Amino acid sequence: MSEHGFDLRQRLETRETNDLRRTLEPAEAVDPRTRFAPDPRGGSVDFDDEKLVFASNNYLGLARDSRVQRAAERATRSVGTGAGASRLVTGDTHLHRALERDIAECKRTERALVFPSGYAANVGTIASLEPDRIFSDALNHASIIDGCRLTDAETVVYDHCDPDDLAAKCESAAAEADPDEQWLVVTDTVFSMDGDVAPLESLCAIAETYGAWLMVDEAHATGLFDDGGGVVQREGLSDRVDVQMGTLSKALASQGGYVAGSDALVEYLLNDARSFVYSTGLAPPAVGAAREALRIAREDDRRNDLWETVEILRDGLEAMGYEVLGSSQILPVLIGERDLAIELAERVREHGIVAPPIRPPTVPEGTSRIRIAPMATHDRDDVDACLEAFEDAGRSVGVLSR
Ligand code: PMP
Repeated sequence: MSEHGFDLRQRLETRETNDLRRTLEPAEAVDPRTRFAPDPRGGSVDFDDEKLVFASNNYLGLARDSRVQRAAERATRSVGTGAGASRLVTGDTHLHRALERDIAECKRTERALVFPSGYAANVGTIASLEPDRIFSDALNHASIIDGCRLTDAETVVYDHCDPDDLAAKCESAAAEADPDEQWLVVTDTVFSMDGDVAPLESLCAIAETYGAWLMVDEAHATGLFDDGGGVVQREGLSDRVDVQMGTLSKALASQGGYVAGSDALVEYLLNDARSFVYSTGLAPPAVGAAREALRIAREDDRRNDLWETVEILRDGLEAMGYEVLGSSQILPVLIGERDLAIELAERVREHGIVAPPIRPPTVPEGTSRIRIAPMATHDRDDVDACLEAFEDAGRSVGVLSR
């Protein structure tokens, strides 16, 4: 008998051999909402194994905020636990529309549209625009890369955060391109592994020179800058960026993604983006939670607490002798060798601090790092504990001189 099945065990073994096997970590390692690592300020549970998590994208600490939790409950009671169908069928509710109005107001755009996830927003939007040519930053998120793969476009990858390289690549493409080609320049704003920020103003200028559209992914920036907006708002570029995309799952403590832009963009996407059209509307509790989290992010000044913590951590780590990359709330501590990064992260964890090592293939060989992501709810004691852990662990594994 012939064998037409899939040998997934074999595939997993190959991954194992190549050191590419992933495993799900128990929640204690990644989620501050679990009993082992409760929200640093809100947690009342005192387990021996409690760890402080410096590895969550819940940047504003809103995932355990009682106002956000109550908003999710209210949405559940008024509309239900699930939308029940695509928004275009019977899954549209007043809550979805209210959230979209709030996002549009915050992003200073005509309209916004929410998707089942940030991943779905990127993939669906890029595919739906059907660009002829895409200019994509070398370190863009996987969901942008996958969106590009779904198009027939020629994708040109430009050097990370390098406007000169983008301009040069646009110039040489212009020499051969059909004049009516439609071009999309796409970039993350805050890059999640390097913690750096795209030079948006320059990217806008280049896109304008070539009449291209600029699309930005504000997944790691939404809620953290001016008036709860992202880098686009901080730089005053709301009316120069054509597509502002982001997620509701990080600082906004919920689930789902959004695209904000012109009325025509939103109207087109809700007709054409397959990840919107053919997927069930966002679950009402997620909508309710995101709306309340966005309100708090806009009205409350807790983002300033986050930025203060970031400054204390960066200064403290650098004073010890660590090299800290980037210029955002994400603090990648450069270690170099993967085994050293793994060992350091283990030692740091023995001190009660969870911050993961990031190694190849996620980052290039020789640039392994530990990624620290603080939250607005970390207090000074938490921050001191984190610094102490990095100091002791760094000395014991020999990363810092004794
Ligand atoms: N873009 C970026 C830059 C991200 O980091 C992520 C999440 N890791 C996404 C998009 C996808 O967002 P979501 O988790 O909502 O699918």
